[in-house]
Amino acid sequence: MPNLNGEMTTRLSDAIAGDHYAGYAYAYPHKTSYRLFDHPVDLPTAWSDEDKSRLFLYVHLPFCEMRCGFCNLFTASQPPSELVRQTLDAIETQSRVVSGRVEPQRVVQVAFGGGTPTYLTADELERLLVMMRCDWPIESEAPFSVEVSPATVDATKLTILRDHGVRRISMGVQSFVSRDLNQLGRPQDHQTVEHSIELIRQSGIDLFNLDLIYGNQGQTESDWFATVRKALQYDPGELFLYPLYVRKLTGLGKTGRSPAENRRHMYRLGRELLLDAGYRQISMRMFRKSGTDYGTQHCCQEDGMIGLGPGARSYTRELHYSSEYAVSGSSIRKIIDKFNRRDPEDFALADYGVWLNAEEQSRRYLIRSLLQVDGLDRQAFASLFGADVCLVLPQVEQLLESGFAELTAERLMLTAEGLAHSDVIGPWLYSDAVLSRMEQFELQ
Ligand code: SF4
Repeated sequence: MPNLNGEMTTRLSDAIAGDHYAGYAYAYPHKTSYRLFDHPVDLPTAWSDEDKSRLFLYVHLPFCEMRCGFCNLFTASQPPSELVRQTLDAIETQSRVVSGRVEPQRVVQVAFGGGTPTYLTADELERLLVMMRCDWPIESEAPFSVEVSPATVDATKLTILRDHGVRRISMGVQSFVSRDLNQLGRPQDHQTVEHSIELIRQSGIDLFNLDLIYGNQGQTESDWFATVRKALQYDPGELFLYPLYVRKLTGLGKTGRSPAENRRHMYRLGRELLLDAGYRQISMRMFRKSGTDYGTQHCCQEDGMIGLGPGARSYTRELHYSSEYAVSGSSIRKIIDKFNRRDPEDFALADYGVWLNAEEQSRRYLIRSLLQVDGLDRQAFASLFGADVCLVLPQVEQLLESGFAELTAERLMLTAEGLAHSDVIGPWLYSDAVLSRMEQFELQ
């Protein structure tokens, strides 16, 4: 079936018959499709036609106390304190310059991610929070989330976060089974984990999330049950169940190991446990306890995002941009150093990214909506893109024929089986143009 560029798209049945875990489509287009622009765009131009009253502000802190074996995120482990200070200085400059050029009206959601934002000292965290409140019109009740790791969180930092309006803490625990953790390349001490969870529960921050991983070679069903059940004992508002990926240049990738064959089975086991415990499924990975409300106003399919920090992306409807991307430690350090040395005026330019034409914008909308349980609002899609999603993106027909999706008068939604295949369906919906750019990217 030809797509809108006249190119051939793989049939869904062939994609399903191949690798069931082609990729995690959490953002589209993927950063590996970004390139250096021949003509950088100045931010006032890039943001001139955007709605600046529903912005998401994301701050990326690329530091961790260790590099987990499965991790391909943009982060440096055990950086010298001087590098952390220089990066905060650069983020301060970037924040001031970008805010001055974009002229934001209202920030309705905030997240600090990474890396591990709580790798910063308490004073550094305070400095960053004050800086953001000073430069950006953040709504007082805006959902505000911060990622932490067990070894970097303490009562002082949590108090600072709470006092600055943080309402959600997300912590990667991955497993409560030592053998599993060692195989994942993330040794961690159970007492530290339990202590950090207790501190979070006592902190007065409304919502906390735990991330868990399944599909590690050697992980048994009972290991996975033990991990999920242990997590449930802490009664988190949210749980994310991540299938293991072994990606190029990561610690696990270098060992040549691959994930276990039973990821689909482990997904079903974990999902059942959470549904039985009263959690509602939000996406293949995300489960939220009934009655938990994070009050999100930002619509990720439509509203703009401002990213600050060396690895953050920013999105307008037509333009996605960021700093460069890498996975290996040495390449990441080079990008951080380059970010820290930028001339202040360079922060007023988008010089690395990808342009989204109307077709790419409609694909992004479809991917971001369909991989959520609630699916896509047909009327909202039609009013943005001029026609029903089935007409704009003919691949939808195959999803319906295969039984992976269903259509009502109002919505297009994945079935439970479709949701279980999210990591095939998401990448299958990428355009050939984006796939080709991703394939040509030289990962360093
Ligand atoms: S998984 Fe999280 S804690 Fe581990 S290296 Fe990656 S960003 Fe850091």
